[in-house]
Amino acid sequence: MSHVFHRHLKQRYPTAVKGDGPYLVDAEGRRYLDASGGAAVSCLGHSDGEVIEAIRDQVGRLAYAHTSFFTNEPMETLADFLVERAPEGLSSVYFVSGGSEAVEAALKLARQYFIEIGQPQRRHLIARRQSYHGNTLGALATGGNAWRRQQFEPLLVEVSHVSPCYAYRGQAAGETPEAYGERLAHELENEILRLGPESVMAFVAEPVVGATLGAVPAVPGYFRRVREVCDRHGVLLILDEVMCGMGRTGSLFAAEQEGVSADLITIAKGLGGGYQPIGATLVSERIRRAIAEGSGFFQHGHTYIGHATACAAALAVQRAIEERDLLSRVRWLGEGLRERLLDRFGDHPHVGDIRGRGLFQGLELVADRADKTPFAPSRKLNAAIKRAAMEAGLMCYPMGGTIDGQRGDHILLAPPFILEESHLDELVDKLDTALARVM
Ligand code: PLP
Repeated sequence: MSHVFHRHLKQRYPTAVKGDGPYLVDAEGRRYLDASGGAAVSCLGHSDGEVIEAIRDQVGRLAYAHTSFFTNEPMETLADFLVERAPEGLSSVYFVSGGSEAVEAALKLARQYFIEIGQPQRRHLIARRQSYHGNTLGALATGGNAWRRQQFEPLLVEVSHVSPCYAYRGQAAGETPEAYGERLAHELENEILRLGPESVMAFVAEPVVGATLGAVPAVPGYFRRVREVCDRHGVLLILDEVMCGMGRTGSLFAAEQEGVSADLITIAKGLGGGYQPIGATLVSERIRRAIAEGSGFFQHGHTYIGHATACAAALAVQRAIEERDLLSRVRWLGEGLRERLLDRFGDHPHVGDIRGRGLFQGLELVADRADKTPFAPSRKLNAAIKRAAMEAGLMCYPMGGTIDGQRGDHILLAPPFILEESHLDELVDKLDTALARVM
């Protein structure tokens, strides 16, 4: 019996012993093509020499120094790097160890901002149904995924949830994408008005929804309208780019493609590419200034914030993406992946929708393609697909969940940016094999 409290106590996991570019290798020597980057993490694959060297070099000089005593060079340089490339108005970076921590920091920064500027009555949060923002209690309360929240409801603060922007199921027949986006922005505004605009703190959303919907981008104009609604009522906009950020959709920040900026942006996963655990919250100048000119101190903090080795690893990952022009590669490979998915699964009786941006693509699985009827929960499709894919030597990220009370199944693909075209063929072949075994 393993003494590790594993994610699932009724499952046995192969032991990963080696990373080799876009592959992971287990103790039996089986190779798995990592088509999901784990969970949209491993953007540079698993054996990048430059990143490994940067980590070695940093550990050799300074592994860690607690940030209540010191700042450190990789943290300062990484902050400069990110702010220089961030959407307008974001001027500083708060470093943490992962995505949930980044979301918690964003929520508390939003709250403290309103206290600093003399609006302590602003405490309500609005997010979207069918969203995931992390598993710590504040982040879990923010997310609207019923299944993930269920057991822990008594521990969660109250958060309002409005409709996600999910054209495949939400856009009405005869409604244009623009009109759909406008309808959703109205829904958000109505919720702000219902709660009382002076009491609302922030609206939280992922620019491209990952874990709960499977790479769903918003319809054109949705985020610009959301930004206008937030501004009209003095509500902060928090964009959660933990999964979709750091180049995954073909631009460094997914928000760039929406033509909006945010008051706070959370990033993680692809920031360190899995070489070290790291996340961050980018903070707008008005929030930074309010705190700097007020109490001067963000009342928060973890032991490992600004970890020197984690920052050095993330800096090496981000420099590699820029120096090797991998964002262009993401756009090019993304098109290739999309073409192959459409070619192979476009007419598949159980693939209802193929969507996404860059190397962030999703397939929605349905029992009936014609009327979009989801599979019955008893099918436990996601576990079966994951198993079949692993048997075929492929890592993909299938998820089941509820869509406004209904079952929904999808597969998320988020492979490393370093793939060759032959890997795209291998990916689609192996996925086909896995799906044929299950459906
Ligand atoms: N936010 C989003 C959008 C996510 O997809 C995730 C994880 O999947 C998180 C936050 C939580 O990140 P972590 O698992 O690093 O805590």
